[in-house]
Amino acid sequence: MLASPTRLIAGWLCGLVLSSFTLQAHSETADLAEQARAIHREAPVFDGHNDLPWKLREKTDLFFKKYDITRPQSDLHTDIPRLRKGGVGAQFWSAYVPADSARSGTAVKLTLEQIDVIHRLVRSYPDTFAMAYTADDVARIRKEGKIASLIGIEGGHSIDNSLGVLRMLYALGARYLTLTHSENLDWADSATDKPRHGGLTPFGEKVVLEMNRLGMLVDISHVSADTMRHVLRIAKAPVIASHSSAFALAQHPRNVPDDVLRLVTKNGGVIMVNFYSGFVVPEGARAMKEIFQVGRELKKKYPNERDFQEAYAAWKKANPFPRGNVGTVVDHIEHIIKTAGIDHVGLGSDFDGISTAPEQLDDVSCYPNITQEMLKRGHKRDAILKVLGGNAVRVLRAAEAVAER
Ligand SMILES: [Zn+2]
Repeated sequence: MLASPTRLIAGWLCGLVLSSFTLQAHSETADLAEQARAIHREAPVFDGHNDLPWKLREKTDLFFKKYDITRPQSDLHTDIPRLRKGGVGAQFWSAYVPADSARSGTAVKLTLEQIDVIHRLVRSYPDTFAMAYTADDVARIRKEGKIASLIGIEGGHSIDNSLGVLRMLYALGARYLTLTHSENLDWADSATDKPRHGGLTPFGEKVVLEMNRLGMLVDISHVSADTMRHVLRIAKAPVIASHSSAFALAQHPRNVPDDVLRLVTKNGGVIMVNFYSGFVVPEGARAMKEIFQVGRELKKKYPNERDFQEAYAAWKKANPFPRGNVGTVVDHIEHIIKTAGIDHVGLGSDFDGISTAPEQLDDVSCYPNITQEMLKRGHKRDAILKVLGGNAVRVLRAAEAVAER
């Protein structure tokens, strides 16, 4: 999720991955597409981050009145027909609330409301979704042909400096906590704020260890590289980055640097690649480096939400960058495979939390294009299965094994 609401420019159908107009190339592409579909039938996608719950709040539709997602919804990235087309079998739904809610003292309340949205999403469409709390739940729900739905909390501000609140969020179903969002906390530095602690404070270490004790995944997306390193020094269970890409390819501060990728190998964790053009395309990363700071400054300048939105949109318009395409995202996947290993990469699209996605990755129906691109580049079935979801399930199970029962 970006720092603030953004207008969606959602593509409606993912473009076909056609590299040539010759007949032979066309039939090879059709062949790859069929192979990709076969892989997806075998192993559905497990995505680390989808912001539909906050998108619904922005659109003031927390009760699925305006947006019946059993039907195609052109101004969302996510609806049931496209989840099915994309072969999604498990999804971490983000219970994101803005970092500034900590200052107004409303972070915990808003987080509870967003958790409520996710539970109601599942209850509203019981033929499609079922709540999952464990790796076994994910496997069972997939067998039933439904989409396993898990809750991820995006930002440590949601616990309001309280381990009791953390434990209660776990009790309500949350299975990961991203340690920070766009701003530093009293106990951890964010990637997009001025370093204050150089990583975690002693209380920050306690948060990580309490999450390990509970069996809740520690999410290092959005945190500073020093916070990532600090977490990896002390964590007792594998960590995730629920929606982060590779810094070596696109220099945005919230991407993961190579030394951390190598630490993730030792830790056994998984980096789930974010699709946002502003994080995966090099020019995008350069243009969006300051986006969280710009958002904060504009919010101060324009307290009225509509004025803020206009100014924010104008800033973005003045700072354009290319969208990239499915190959750009696969470049990040390959870099993480090369640096951390095939067991340490997954997918964390950030759909419905991002304003621009690469071509051929317009929405949740497009995951098979990643599979197709990986096949085209010579990756084998077993490797692709790990990237699509196998690694994510393994890490969830490993975190459960560390938990005190
Ligand atoms: Zn995010």
